[in-house]
Amino acid sequence: LSLSGLEPLTFTREANFINIGERTNVTGSRKFARLIREENYEEALAVAREQIENGAQVIDVNMDEGMLDSEKAMDHFLKLTVSEPEIARVPVMIDSSKWSVILAGLKCLQGKSIINSLSLKEGEDAFLEQAKEAMAFGAAIVVMAFDEQGQADSYERRIEICERAYRLLVDRIGFPPQDIIFDPNVLTIATGIEEHNNYALDFIRATEWIKKNLPYAKVSGGISNISFSFRGNNPVREAMHAAFLYHAIRAGLDMGIVNASQLEVYEEVPADLLERVEDALLNRRNDATERLVSFAETISHSTAEIEKKQDEWRSLPVKKRLEHALLKGIISHIEEDTEEARIASKQALDVIEGPLMDGMNIVGDLFGEGKMFLPQVVKSARVMKKAVSYLIPHIEEEKKKARDHRPKGKLLLATVKGDVHDIGKNIVGVVLACNNYEVIDLGVMVPAQRIIESAIEHKVDVIGVSGLITPSLDEMVHLAKEMQNRSLSIPLLIGGATTSRIHTAVKISPEYDAPVIHVLDASKSVPVVSQLLSDTHRANFVEQINQEYETIRVRHARRTEQKEYVSLEEARKNKPAVTWSKDLVYEPFHAGITSYEDLDLSVIRKYIDWTPFFISWGLKGKYPALFEDETTGPEAKKLYGEAQEMLDEIINEKWLQAKAVCGIFPANSSEDDIIIYKDNHRNEPLMTLNMLRQQKKKRSGQYNKCLSDFIAPVDTGLKDYLGAFAVTAGHGIEARLMQFKSENDDYKAIMLQALADRLAEAAAEWLHETVRRKLWKYAPDETLSNTDIIKENFQGIRPAPGYPANPEHTEKQKLFELLKVEKHTGITLTEHFAMYPAASVSGFYIAHPEAAYFSVGKITKEQVVDYAMRKNWPLKKAEKWLLPNLAYNPDN
Ligand code: SAH
Repeated sequence: LSLSGLEPLTFTREANFINIGERTNVTGSRKFARLIREENYEEALAVAREQIENGAQVIDVNMDEGMLDSEKAMDHFLKLTVSEPEIARVPVMIDSSKWSVILAGLKCLQGKSIINSLSLKEGEDAFLEQAKEAMAFGAAIVVMAFDEQGQADSYERRIEICERAYRLLVDRIGFPPQDIIFDPNVLTIATGIEEHNNYALDFIRATEWIKKNLPYAKVSGGISNISFSFRGNNPVREAMHAAFLYHAIRAGLDMGIVNASQLEVYEEVPADLLERVEDALLNRRNDATERLVSFAETISHSTAEIEKKQDEWRSLPVKKRLEHALLKGIISHIEEDTEEARIASKQALDVIEGPLMDGMNIVGDLFGEGKMFLPQVVKSARVMKKAVSYLIPHIEEEKKKARDHRPKGKLLLATVKGDVHDIGKNIVGVVLACNNYEVIDLGVMVPAQRIIESAIEHKVDVIGVSGLITPSLDEMVHLAKEMQNRSLSIPLLIGGATTSRIHTAVKISPEYDAPVIHVLDASKSVPVVSQLLSDTHRANFVEQINQEYETIRVRHARRTEQKEYVSLEEARKNKPAVTWSKDLVYEPFHAGITSYEDLDLSVIRKYIDWTPFFISWGLKGKYPALFEDETTGPEAKKLYGEAQEMLDEIINEKWLQAKAVCGIFPANSSEDDIIIYKDNHRNEPLMTLNMLRQQKKKRSGQYNKCLSDFIAPVDTGLKDYLGAFAVTAGHGIEARLMQFKSENDDYKAIMLQALADRLAEAAAEWLHETVRRKLWKYAPDETLSNTDIIKENFQGIRPAPGYPANPEHTEKQKLFELLKVEKHTGITLTEHFAMYPAASVSGFYIAHPEAAYFSVGKITKEQVVDYAMRKNWPLKKAEKWLLPNLAYNPDN
């Protein structure tokens, strides 16, 4: 049997069991069903991607739900998956009980898919008709053990139906036998009904029989069904799946529909649980069900038992204890265990190279396989570092004897010049360090020259750079050019929020002959680095990346040519028809500047939007719904609890100080500019803000927007206003970060950075509300829940300079002058206009009810020339700052 997505999946005699991801199924996953119902296809795709990242080699897609237009949903979802290379890579199992839905799916997929399923339920004619159609599509088929009399539930019925179906398919219509996959019905056991007790055993025996008697046919099954009666008790369900798979695979099971991220390892199932599970599965005792049920209750209920279990690891041998501490991130006994291991070893270094590295390798593998999450890994690293720092004095003493401790390779990490954001980079550093790479971290705002010189000095194998604001993209291009000028050949890794594969392929990689690779997130850094440093894999890997990036470049070139732009004049004519009248401009209750020395963080805390917090820790999903997620839920809850604890400390012990400033000023718009006046006579301008206008050709009824459209034009004669603000929650953070770093506690350091960012955003939210209700007071009676505030369901917007509606960063300088931000808050700007401290937010306020965010997107040279004139800049300077927005190549 050979299947394919973009890549082939061939079943050979030696092949291991194939995992089919089950979560993209509306009948099996409540979450996926909700996403499809809400047409949130982006998140739905993420479900597919996660399954594959967690090891699914095929994904089962099922859209059978009464309320859905299943054909349409199947069509739409699959069409989206084929444009996602990471998903389209694997074959799809199209799962439906309606043949029309299966056909809809088959039409979307170019690879060789699996149809799930056909059966003899409606007789031979219908069965063979569908099989012929499947053959025409070149699809493999799952045949359920079902016939005119119903579902097979005994061994005899299973083999009888499968044999009959096989003969019909192969002898009557010449169906390729290798494309037949039997599903002999995984049915739920331990239900309390005696007839069900032999279900698992019969399945296993039927599997064995099929593999022996029906040449080339394969066997599959929906594994989770077996444990359905233990819904809600994951430890027991996972143990049942592990044991069932173990026996069924030995009997010949080729593949199964599973939750790829929740596979327990057979050997790791505790012996007492395994015994009871196998008693039930293999129907070894009459009271097997009762015994398993009562045992299951102790697992889910008795916390005392759990605590006892939790302490049991203390009686393991020291090597196992170290491994356990690393895996679970338990720091409480690490020094005594390390000491014990040291005494038992020849030299202290052996403890690092032996048990500690072994443990970290397991962590690295589990993380790579998606079986551990980022916060857990960072905690493991903390345990590791604590153990290492305990050993260092001993190693120093043994120095003469000690051989060089050889890491797998050396990396240099830096946040580029002009940028101060480093949470992501710090996480990557920790992840690489736990995988035994030596990491030299140059910190933030590092100029290209220093990166290059340090790389040469330390003879590093790889350079990784990170950045969050858009000017950093250009700085990375600059770095690549400089590396080329210096004839370096060190691979360059690119990461950070605004970076992308497209930008790396199109803009950075052509500047530098050595490999330039975009690394999506921390979990990808280890495989990328290990392949780059591998003698055997490097050439292949680099070739593959080059090809991939070349494809992106070609596609990109084609796409840019295709987009249509309108002239600046046409764009201005097509501006949104904003309503202007006296009651749509709001005289501020309190004009001018207001500043806040020391915001009360216990108030600010209530405004925190937690979803981005989890994202920065690599846990995807919306707060608080992600607590319910089967895979990430428990880890998310734990992380949240620890965040609350640290927030308490931050507030009670005054770790951080938050400052803010805001102001409301008389303003009118003039074409794409916003003029701010010295006073309300509006005779003398104080400052002019230059905005940018969308130029992409719009369908009729859609407009070419510019932020100035939402401020009353001069010629309306209306007295309008514009606001501005800046807040920071980053004062005091450096001292704490240094303390945590000196204690080797990256976990706390990253946690603090993430929380400071949250507090800054929350302070911006609080301040905006205060402005709406009290200072500008255009919405004095507003009462919104925090959820509504986070959704920005209020009147007015606060566009941030450098963001899509006003993407040019130098305008931030004007905002800083206008509000005297540095004087009031201590926030400074770097040469690329990043705010320092990093936990800071700034923006303008616009009050008009129709104001909304948008993205300026690409603009033509005509507008760039116009913009340069408005700012009195040379064209080159305008092109430099507008680089991410240019619809043309400024070098041509
Ligand atoms: N609740 C989020 C808020 C930050 S993101 C958090 O805690 O992280 C939303 C902010 O980004 C907006 O308030 C605005 O300041 C900025 N923003 C979003 N889209 C924008 C756009 N298109 N143009 C300008 N600024 C934008």
